[in-house]
Amino acid sequence: MKRICPECQDEYTGRSDKRYCSDACRSAYHNRKHAEETVFMRSINKILRDNRNILAALNPDGKSSVKRDKLIDRGFKFRYFTNEYRSKNGTLYHFTYDHGVLVNDRDWVTIVKRQEYVE
Ligand SMILES: [Zn+2]
Repeated sequence: MKRICPECQDEYTGRSDKRYCSDACRSAYHNRKHAEETVFMRSINKILRDNRNILAALNPDGKSSVKRDKLIDRGFKFRYFTNEYRSKNGTLYHFTYDHGVLVNDRDWVTIVKRQEYVE
């Protein structure tokens, strides 16, 4: 049975459970795949870390109201966060590690520091 090696694109023959032409290609493929995933996760981690540091800088006292634009100016990305938290009265916060954001309206957000709720 002829197949194409996903790493070097060469044709090879072998047992049907053999997915690469050689051990070298198998490990090269997996190493590259792992490296790509690592790069991807690092880029997300960097966004989260930057977001968290922006919030911490704007929230030195544990609770503050700031203009949404101030976050955007500093490069805050609203679509990235680590977890949601809904308070007893139904208010939804988006947390990035230890700081949470509540969007009040079009212009203002409230930043709060984490209380002891983490599941
Ligand atoms: Zn190969």
